[in-house]
Amino acid sequence: MAEFSFELDDDQKAVRDWIHGFAADVMRPAAAEWDEREETPWPIIQEAAKIGLYSLDFYAQQYFDPTGLGIPMTMEELFWGDAGIALSIVGTGLAAVGVLANGTEEQIGTWIPQMYGDAADVKVAAFCSSEPDAGSDVGSMRTRAVYDEAKDEWVLNGTKTWATNGGIANVHVVVAVVDPDLGSKGHASFIIPPGTPGLSQGQKFKKHGIRASHTAEVVLDQVRVPGSCLLGGKEKLDERLARAREKAKGGGERLKNAAMATFEASRPAVGAMAVGTARAAYEVALDYARTRQQFGRPIIDNQGVAFQLADMRTRIDAARLMVWRASWMAVSGRPFESAEGSMSKLFASETAKQVTAQAVQILGGNGFTREYPVERMHRDAAIYTIFEGTSEIQRLVIARTLSGVQIR
Ligand SMILES: Cc1cc2nc3c(=O)[nH]c(=O)nc-3n(C[C@H](O)[C@H](O)[C@H](O)COP(=O)(O)OP(=O)(O)OC[C@H]3O[C@@H](n4cnc5c(N)ncnc54)[C@H](O)[C@@H]3O)c2cc1C
Repeated sequence: MAEFSFELDDDQKAVRDWIHGFAADVMRPAAAEWDEREETPWPIIQEAAKIGLYSLDFYAQQYFDPTGLGIPMTMEELFWGDAGIALSIVGTGLAAVGVLANGTEEQIGTWIPQMYGDAADVKVAAFCSSEPDAGSDVGSMRTRAVYDEAKDEWVLNGTKTWATNGGIANVHVVVAVVDPDLGSKGHASFIIPPGTPGLSQGQKFKKHGIRASHTAEVVLDQVRVPGSCLLGGKEKLDERLARAREKAKGGGERLKNAAMATFEASRPAVGAMAVGTARAAYEVALDYARTRQQFGRPIIDNQGVAFQLADMRTRIDAARLMVWRASWMAVSGRPFESAEGSMSKLFASETAKQVTAQAVQILGGNGFTREYPVERMHRDAAIYTIFEGTSEIQRLVIARTLSGVQIR
């Protein structure tokens, strides 16, 4: 009989506890400082590299965990520690996954190690897709990549924005238009090797939350990269473009489905980040409600406070279950017939916003100050409903999937 269980196995529990230890002992105590500094916490990334927590090996192990729970478990614990520092640690993974998913064996072997560097000389990587006029509407991307056949080089021009680690990365992965007639099907991804002339950092954003994570514009001015930097190679690109041109003849549905499946599989990881932040704020609020005395008794003695905590915890657990379900569906090849990946991201990110706001309220005046971490967690939580597809875009995807109607 098939076994059904929500229990992590002993190895997974050991990994979770190990990440939790790092989050509690190294990240938490440093969180307020790096939030104030609004700088990449290089010493902490280095600490993570020293113990193997910031490495390709570790992420590959979690990514290929056959239960699908390796990545959500890792994200929840790291983001429980601190969202800004955690994004500085996992931001490289975004670019690495882009190469793992689309790159050749040789590209994976050449570039991913350079994204991480090593404990003595840590590096980060950036994934650059968004542009000033192409956020939710990826199809209106303008950055162009033109092939110079004589030199077997690609020439890239354009401006990317909101790039996590943009400009400070050793390796940038840049999405660009190779065939403007094909909309988002005419895009391809390129590796921009370290020190390539023409790539520069534009403005660095001063943000509301996750302030330890570096977010900046990336300007590409006549950036030339060898043909070998096109992810997947020219032959595969030409085949893909030819298939996309077949779209009018009805062959496009398969392509669209493949892209959707990729998003459905990656969105639960963002949901897990949100669960980590929500859980962190809930724990602080529970602890505070038990100890803070007003009217001669702990404030948790009031149903008005206790019921809020009950709702917070219920939502967090529901969010985690949705994230785990979607992660399990992705790893076991289940079709996302109701956009369960998008559902998990939508619910978990809205949960983080709501729960952190409730935590601020439960801490009263203290919740509003930087003396207590819930103020920072509340600011941090606002990102989850924005990046990797806003809540409105998740609803659009879910509604379209359920109805089959191209709702706008
Ligand atoms: C801190 C941070 C880090 C980021 N990191 C990266 C990164 O590493 N790499 C990268 O490529 N990008 C990154 N992003 C970009 C992020 O993915 C985009 O901000 C996001 O996709 C939204 O795009 P936008 O900001 O242009 O908003 P817009 O698309 O302009 O949306 C504005 C508002 O309109 C709503 N809206 C838009 N279209 C519709 C519609 N059809 N129906 C209903 N509502 C709609 C949106 O939901 C939103 O509320 C990051 C962003 C931030 C803030």
